[in-house]
Amino acid sequence: MSSTPVLDALPLHRQLDLLARPNQGREALEAQLAARMAAYGASCARPPEQRGHLPTLAILGGDGLWHLQLGTVMICSGRYRPKPAPLSSALEPLDGTIRHEPWFASRDARPVWDVRLTSDHQHPQHVPPGLRCPVRSEDGDWDPYRSPVRSNWKSRKRSRYIDAAGRMCHACGESLGIDLEYDRYTEHIRGVLCQYCSGAVYECPHPDGCYRADYLNHPPAGHLRERYYTGGNRNDRPRPRGGSGVAGRTASLVTQPRARLRAGDAGLAAPSDDLARRGTTHGG
Ligand SMILES: [Zn+2]
Ligand SMILES: [Zn+2]
Ligand SMILES: [Zn+2]
Repeated sequence: MSSTPVLDALPLHRQLDLLARPNQGREALEAQLAARMAAYGASCARPPEQRGHLPTLAILGGDGLWHLQLGTVMICSGRYRPKPAPLSSALEPLDGTIRHEPWFASRDARPVWDVRLTSDHQHPQHVPPGLRCPVRSEDGDWDPYRSPVRSNWKSRKRSRYIDAAGRMCHACGESLGIDLEYDRYTEHIRGVLCQYCSGAVYECPHPDGCYRADYLNHPPAGHLRERYYTGGNRNDRPRPRGGSGVAGRTASLVTQPRARLRAGDAGLAAPSDDLARRGTTHGG
């Protein structure tokens, strides 16, 4: 590239993060960044639509599942995504019967089903994934689950970041933050991002003057510096030390099932890792 260097113009920590990701070498990276700079202009594009951006409520249905109200509509009903209007007053829980229609093409055999909403409601962050109505549950409108189980490291760390910098995406601020995003060089979590930003935020070629650059340069909850676990061999809880005597041995026996549980947690980490990897293959 003959024009002004793009990689070198970025803050050093961003250069290191980019170089720690799968790449074809410095020159190829420089060319990618220059191409993006030419295509994007002065700033990365804003997200094309908003998710989880209105006051929200989980309402218990007669079917035992929790259904999602976003602003004035039940987002989990109907075949097409309803457009929630901005609220003019406080959020009132909806009631009555809502119709669910198959939301995938014919491959999905689920029939139309009606759900009577009860008067039971709570904040969506407390509803475990298995109890959420499956219709559009992956669209980014449901708050990530705030698990009370300490061994769920992802939930625990995400909650810390959300408490520090809010539940909306720490980069664009327009949609709900869902995924943990982290620096590949330091492995420190930078923030919680919406689905639109999480896979691509690091691709920002701008040294500043762009919402993504602002996030990468100064992530609002970055001071927490929590580690993102990249391997399956996580050990974030102090193990019983010493090991001498019966008590020590019993303690290590007791921790064994937990170790297996952690391996399960690592398995849960796969989808968003995949997402991040997909992000890398898009860049170019
Ligand atoms: Zn529903
Ligand atoms: Zn975002
Ligand atoms: Zn940018």
